Amino acid sequence: MVFCIPAHGHHNPTLPVVTELVKRGNAVRYYSFEEFREKIEKTGAEFFPCDAFLPELTQEEEQGLKRVSTTEMTVVDLRVTARMDGFLAEQVASFQPDVIFTDSVCFWGKLTARKYQIPMVVSTSTFAFNQASSRYMKNSFSEIVDLITGLGRVKAELKKLEAYGYHEKSIMPLVQNDNFTDTVVYATRKYQPCAETFSEHYAFVGPSLPVAYPPDKDHERPLVFISMGTVLNEKPDFYKTCIRALAGENVDVLISCGKAVDPESLGTLPDNIRVEPYVNQPEVLAKANVFLTHCGMNSVSESLYMAAPMVLYPQTNEQRAVARRAFEMGAGVELKGDSPEEIRAAVLTVLKDPKYARAAAQCSRDFREAPGPKGAAEFIETAPHLMPEEDKKQMQKKILPGILQLLFWLAAIPLIILLPKLLHRNLWWFFAIIANLVFIPFKNWTMRTGK
Ligand code: UDP
Repeated sequence: MVFCIPAHGHHNPTLPVVTELVKRGNAVRYYSFEEFREKIEKTGAEFFPCDAFLPELTQEEEQGLKRVSTTEMTVVDLRVTARMDGFLAEQVASFQPDVIFTDSVCFWGKLTARKYQIPMVVSTSTFAFNQASSRYMKNSFSEIVDLITGLGRVKAELKKLEAYGYHEKSIMPLVQNDNFTDTVVYATRKYQPCAETFSEHYAFVGPSLPVAYPPDKDHERPLVFISMGTVLNEKPDFYKTCIRALAGENVDVLISCGKAVDPESLGTLPDNIRVEPYVNQPEVLAKANVFLTHCGMNSVSESLYMAAPMVLYPQTNEQRAVARRAFEMGAGVELKGDSPEEIRAAVLTVLKDPKYARAAAQCSRDFREAPGPKGAAEFIETAPHLMPEEDKKQMQKKILPGILQLLFWLAAIPLIILLPKLLHRNLWWFFAIIANLVFIPFKNWTMRTGK
């Protein structure tokens, strides 16, 4: 059984894997949504639509989803899980799956595996994030406010799930990557940040693309490709600024504006610029000399696979993490502001300095050597991956920081009480502050030890 949330970026890397699973003779049922039917049926898997289980949303909730609010996505995810419970019980009983392959934020997939104790492999369409690698993901102020103010609503939805036999105390274990779950990541170990902190339960298979187009970069004029992905792509003003920035330059420009923006609404186009609602992105990237991207995980992986250096323009915390990694690989420059001058300068910088194209070409070579969809299919077929020794080691690493922190306070609290008495001064608050100040670096050290 394969499960995914309704998002292209989460489906795309699973499709070549499913194609491979079907090719190898496995019976695969893919539970998804009508929008993705065509893509899924092409893999040879049996498609099961789940649109009827999407809940009715208030206008406010819909706005939240459009903003990619984590709270809103989590609440909807939990509601779908409740609504699908009966249907999935029947499916499990009739199909008797050997393994569930589910997207990492598709709670109904993960919880079905847990409820019926079916081996599970998680598909992570971003980098794998744990305490170490999530340092790459800087939340903006509004994202932090969204997370904090949404805690109550998420807790209430988790409580409702108890009636269906899902007893989850907290949302974190459902969202976070842990070192005990078999997980496919579409990045190589070299590309994944802090790869050394992940256990052997991780298969870093590299990008999963349907066709490995060979890079073809020699044209009369360089090709600049611009896309803001498929989710937060309703940005007509940004596309107009890009058009103004690159009109008349000695480059060809292709903009994928998304299906929500009418290309006609962007005005009369200069000869060197073309706008389409949707393109075959990997094919275009094989020819592109620069890619101005919102830094979705798939877009950046495809760009590196096709040896296209980038102008990085992330919009969300996750995209900022991907942008930072691409920058560290030397394959792009960050777009600091979105004025026509800044866009033009960034595009020309990447075009003129060959070091960016060289770094992207190196990534392309590494990615093409990775196990890819075949490796992922093999990993799924051989799940669960039992590693009792490794798991014991991981468990020790997990509890060690907590034990050390407890020992710290067991030593500190008597000192906070005793020292003021010895000095005959009521200074317990002073020692409490000192203890807290010492605790911060100590806690960080224990976390590092725990890795
Ligand atoms: N995509 C495409 N054609 C387009 C725009 C996007 O094929 O015109 C694909 C792209 O190849 C990638 C996915 O849509 O696989 C976008 O995923 P990503 O993770 O980059 O961003 P998201 O859309 O999830 O923000």
